[in-house]
Amino acid sequence: MDLFGGIEAGGTKFVCAVGNGSDDIVDEVRFPTTTPEETIGKAIDFFRGIVAEGATLRAVGIASFGPVDPNPRSPTWGYITSTPKSGWANVNFAGPVQAALGVPVGFDTDVNGAALGEGTWGAAQGLDTFVYLTVGTGIGGGAMVEGRLLHGLMHTEMGHIRLPHDYETDPFPGNCPFHDDCFEGLATGPAIEARWGQRAEMLPPDHPAWALEAHYLGLACANFVLTLCPQRIILGGGVMQQAHLFPLIRREVQTLLNDYVRVPEILRDIDAYIVPPGLGNRAGALGAIALAMQAAE
Ligand code: ADP
Ligand code: ZN
Repeated sequence: MDLFGGIEAGGTKFVCAVGNGSDDIVDEVRFPTTTPEETIGKAIDFFRGIVAEGATLRAVGIASFGPVDPNPRSPTWGYITSTPKSGWANVNFAGPVQAALGVPVGFDTDVNGAALGEGTWGAAQGLDTFVYLTVGTGIGGGAMVEGRLLHGLMHTEMGHIRLPHDYETDPFPGNCPFHDDCFEGLATGPAIEARWGQRAEMLPPDHPAWALEAHYLGLACANFVLTLCPQRIILGGGVMQQAHLFPLIRREVQTLLNDYVRVPEILRDIDAYIVPPGLGNRAGALGAIALAMQAAE
C-alpha cells in the first residue's frame, strides 16, 4: 500500500499521520514536544513502523511551528530558525527525517500546510487565492496565492502585523515578546487571558472580551483583504471555537471596508467568505499530508 506521511509539529505537541487523503487516514499518533532529538526521533520511529508493516511511504510532509526556512535553495532549508521555544532555534528538522526515511520531504509552516489542506479537501476547494489564519496560543497565517503557497522572502508572518490600538478602550499593553502590541500581542488566547484574568474558554459569550477580540480580528482580516485579495478567509485555532465571533468579525470587516471593495463576496455573501476550517481540527495533520503529496509530485 502506498501512503503519504504527515508531521504536524506544534510547540506543545506533534501529530504524525499516514494516509491518502481526508477520509483515508490509516494511522495516527500524537506525543508532546520535548527536545528536538527525542521528538523528531519519535516521528521517524512512527514512519519506520509503518514501513516495517509493509506499506510504501511515498513522501513525508512537515507542517511546523516556526519561523522556519522553507526555501529549497537555502543551505538551511528545513530548519526551524529563530523560534523563542527553548532548544528549538536553528534546528535541522527536514534533514534528519529525509536522511532516516529516504523519501521526498515537503517542509513548510503549520499554517501554510493547513492552507494547502483546506484548499485540497476543505473550505477553500476550487479557489486559488485564500488565507488560513489560526488564532490560538499564537496567531499565524498561511496564504495560497494564484495556486501557490506564498513564500517570497521567507513566509508570511501575519500574526505580527500592527493594528491600531486604542489604549483608552484597551489599556492592555500586549504580550508579544518581540513587539508588545502587534496583532498576536493583542489577540491570542494567552493575550485574552492576560487582559481579563481568565482563560478565554471560561469567558461567557456576552463578555466584552469578545467584541474587542472581533474588532482586532476584523481589522486584521480587512488588512488581508486589501493586501492579498483572498477569495476566502478561513479562521481556525482554539479561540475560534467561539463560533459567535464569526458574525461579529464579518460585520466588523464590512464596517471597516465601508463598501470600498465592491464585490458580492464581501457586500452580500460574507457568511461564505469568512468561515471556519472545513477540516476542523484535522487541518494541521491533513495539511502535512498535502505537503507530502506536493513533495512527491
Ligand atoms: P495551539 O495554538 O497551542 O496549537 P489552540 O489553537 O487550541 O492550540 O490554542 C490554545 C489557546 O486557545 C489557549 O490560549 C486557549 O485559552 C484558547 N482556547 C482553546 N479553546 C478555546 C475555546 N473553546 N474558546 C476560547 N479560547 C479557547
Ligand atoms: Zn509580534
